[in-house]
Amino acid sequence: MSFQFAFVLPTTRCLAHCEFCFYETGHSERVEARDYIPRLGPALEALQEEGLQQVIITGGEPLLAPLFPDLLELLSQHVVHVLLLTHGELLDEEKLELLERQGVDDITISAVGPEEQLRQTIHRIMFHSRYVPTLLTCLNRSNLDDVPRLLEFSSRRNLPHLFTPAYIPQEAGCFDRLSLHRVPEREWRELIDRLQGWAEATQSLFYLAMIRDFYRGMPVHPGFCPMGTQGLVVDADGTVYPCFHRHDLRAGNLIADPWPQIRDRLEQVGPGLIGAPCFGEHCLSMFAGVQE
Ligand code: SF4
Repeated sequence: MSFQFAFVLPTTRCLAHCEFCFYETGHSERVEARDYIPRLGPALEALQEEGLQQVIITGGEPLLAPLFPDLLELLSQHVVHVLLLTHGELLDEEKLELLERQGVDDITISAVGPEEQLRQTIHRIMFHSRYVPTLLTCLNRSNLDDVPRLLEFSSRRNLPHLFTPAYIPQEAGCFDRLSLHRVPEREWRELIDRLQGWAEATQSLFYLAMIRDFYRGMPVHPGFCPMGTQGLVVDADGTVYPCFHRHDLRAGNLIADPWPQIRDRLEQVGPGLIGAPCFGEHCLSMFAGVQE
């Protein structure tokens, strides 16, 4: 078992408050950020020796985190691919310059807000930096009509674009309004038709089929999950998990526990996740890009 990618959260705070966010629906709990950076260094060293290739900085909105600059500084000392997931609105010239200076390789921008705001964000990034941002649209019942417009937006600018279904727990107040489970049959067929060209162009046909079948109650199971054996999560308080959704398998905390102890615990729990025994709607977004 050797970890190839790590999700690192410098904060769970965000200003956008998207209704479908795991934190807003109550699926995940926000935690108080703690400065785990000094302890992350040795962990990264060890992970890099075993083959770590990518760190994905996510949140919350990472740009809000007081320890974000220190995190970038630390990552700049390691030869790993760094991907930043951000809502994007805080990416001003100064921040873009910081990302470039510290060697952030790629950025992915949330593409769910009003088009004018998205346009401004994208143009700022492309004008003031070398980045070609990837767009990420969380599909939910309220934005399905925006899909053609968003596809046109990204294809005109030659921007990579990801579509993932938003997970809305049944107990969330916005379930009826936002869940893809509530999309009527005709609209559902239109959505799948609209995404077909995108899926063909991005080798996402398997993924689109997963989404299509899952929300129509057909048996869907990927048979494999990379979380826990290839990927891990460092939460904003320094706690390490094999997966975002398996807090019951907490492996330890960077601040309180030595890395070898955390790594041992991951070794114990990770292999049990290979067959995706806990697969469900909340995991679908993890399988974007997975091919048959
Ligand atoms: S199947 Fe889902 S919940 Fe289970 S480890 Fe994979 S992503 Fe996490």
